[in-house]
Amino acid sequence: MTKDVSIERVRNVGVMAHIDAGKTTTTERILFFTGRRHKIGEVHNGEAAMDWMIQEQERGITITSAATTAYWRNYRINIIDTPGHVDFTAEVERSLRVLDGTVALFCAVGGVQPQAETVWRQAEKYNVPIIAFVNKMDRTGADFERVVEEIREELGANAVPIVIPIGAEAEFAGIIDLVDMQAVYYDDSADGQGASIRVEPIPEDMKETARQAELRMIERISEQDDGLMDKFIEGIAPEREEVIRAIRKATIDGRFVPVLCGAAFKNKGIRRLLDAIVDYLPSPLDLPPIIGACSETDKELIRKPSDEAPLAALAFKVQSDRHMGKLTYVRVYSGVLTSSAQIYNSTRDKMQRVGRLFEMHANDREAVDALHTGHVGAVVGLADTRTGDTLSSREHPILLESIEFPAPVIGVAVAPASREDRDKLSVALHRLAEEDPTFIVRSDAETKEVVISGMGELHLEIIVDRLRREFGVEVTAGQPQVAYRETILATVDHEYKHVKQTGGRGQYAHMIFRIEPTKPGSGFQFEDEISGGKITREYLNAIKRGILEVMAEGPYAGYPMVDLKVTILDGTMHEVDSSEQAFRACGKFGFREACLRAGLELLEPMMSVEVTAADSFTGPITGSLCSKRGRIVSMDSKAGATILRGRVPLAEMFGYASELRSLTSGRGTFTMHFEHYESVPYALSEELVKARKDEKK
Ligand code: GDP
Repeated sequence: MTKDVSIERVRNVGVMAHIDAGKTTTTERILFFTGRRHKIGEVHNGEAAMDWMIQEQERGITITSAATTAYWRNYRINIIDTPGHVDFTAEVERSLRVLDGTVALFCAVGGVQPQAETVWRQAEKYNVPIIAFVNKMDRTGADFERVVEEIREELGANAVPIVIPIGAEAEFAGIIDLVDMQAVYYDDSADGQGASIRVEPIPEDMKETARQAELRMIERISEQDDGLMDKFIEGIAPEREEVIRAIRKATIDGRFVPVLCGAAFKNKGIRRLLDAIVDYLPSPLDLPPIIGACSETDKELIRKPSDEAPLAALAFKVQSDRHMGKLTYVRVYSGVLTSSAQIYNSTRDKMQRVGRLFEMHANDREAVDALHTGHVGAVVGLADTRTGDTLSSREHPILLESIEFPAPVIGVAVAPASREDRDKLSVALHRLAEEDPTFIVRSDAETKEVVISGMGELHLEIIVDRLRREFGVEVTAGQPQVAYRETILATVDHEYKHVKQTGGRGQYAHMIFRIEPTKPGSGFQFEDEISGGKITREYLNAIKRGILEVMAEGPYAGYPMVDLKVTILDGTMHEVDSSEQAFRACGKFGFREACLRAGLELLEPMMSVEVTAADSFTGPITGSLCSKRGRIVSMDSKAGATILRGRVPLAEMFGYASELRSLTSGRGTFTMHFEHYESVPYALSEELVKARKDEKK
């Protein structure tokens, strides 16, 4: 086993794909070929390898772990799990934060699917370098060239094949490696597992095609590399190492996407893919140092990726493990995380004791003493650490940018089925909320119901299912409810005085302030422009607490308020009668009055919806989306199917799965995810507010 891998030899990667492109199979095969039974680099005997695989399949390869460590050519590859379903785009974004490079999988028949585009854009947003793998080359209809063209055209990427297939469909036999200019055959005659490979000269009948493809690759990479360009113009063939270096650099800079192909299911092309991960995706050293803020002074801090630097690590996933309890997955950006150390959770201002540390493998886990810079692993014992928290040291506190999680858009009331279930319910919900920051639990003060909220109907269905299966808790769920928000319509300056004189000590608080609407998604800002300590810091905090009380249940219809700013401009205190309590009341009543003067409106979650169905259904689908207050944003046609993209309020989308099924005789599919909050039309919002008031009576 390779231990203490130096940082240049670490690759933190994810595999992203459209559902069904073969992500599970490819990940499994990667873990198989990097399995610990293999001596690295050895071309193994088919049978032994295959036995191992069957055993593993029976036991079930663990690819559910948030990060799995594997070794290839003495490099350490940490595979970070990226969930596929779009209800969970927040999860995808979270994993993109901690990985350094990604493999984008495409189906050789289906090509670039709408979902793949969403994920691709997310990877671009985080500047994550990408290599593309065109899978399922053995399927009828497989067309490598077409998929490469689609990646170039539809995703606008500088995608360039660095291998080409030998044959396709049932005749798919192997690949021609354009860097080494040799043919690699995967033997599927003996056992169908392709565990052995044969490397041969390029066959006669493919020599010309291969030469053309090689030339194109060299030309495209030369465009990205001045040294190579000079040689290219002079007609000098570049060295192999030069080509690899140039591809590596351009890929890491996001200017080049190497494309490979294979058939994961038949074990073809996977080892070449592993080579490409090592050769072309960055090590943590290749990336800019991480930037954070000092958690005490707010000053910007830069941490170099080095074991010598103070600790900076991000907890990117919390998972409960049947055997070990709570596991926190961390990525170490600088310094060393050692077992039994005392560390500082700078997000929560809490000291934490690190218990044991683990590297998670496909078939087991290994306790380690330390996680060095650039590494990823799991920690046991971080009681108060949640997803998105920064871990650092007390002496050198740093706060990394937290992972942004969208607010839940849908809620449902759940009731325990029996008394026994009631006792277990809150513990189970607490555990689930700890794992998943887009899932929120609260009890409704008025109705005493427990309401769970999340990112979509499916998200909540999965939670209810997990309650049953993992925690043995039966619940009944009510009708899903849209999580509306409230905000103010105009800027208002307001003055409020809270004065009470009821014998003994009175109450006195006075403030002049401004409230103003801010842009969607900006949340709540609180500032003061008070001069000369006219109101103490303590009392300002009390005002803020009062305002937050109102914001939790807005004055319009009792929904949470968002997207506004409060600035305290002036005020006065009374020597005897002022108190925190008085200022809190002043904040609360004053803010409420100002909101009513500014006017309020209701906001609702708008979903981005993508429907794919045969062309003949386009009319009915468009009609149904428009009748739901939806807007069609684009319409693309591809291989007889139309992809409709639109924006529709979540409130109108309940039960859409069955509606679409009946509209298209079961042949249409759709995906949906939260985009932003938007104003509810006035007439409708009046109706909603009235209904809510009746409900509360
Ligand atoms: P995921 O949804 O992306 O995780 O996809 P899976 O790995 O579960 O694969 C989806 C289906 O495609 C399964 O039935 C696989 O057996 C099949 N599949 C995966 N890779 C290949 C391949 O290379 N060739 C063929 N013909 N089928 C494949």
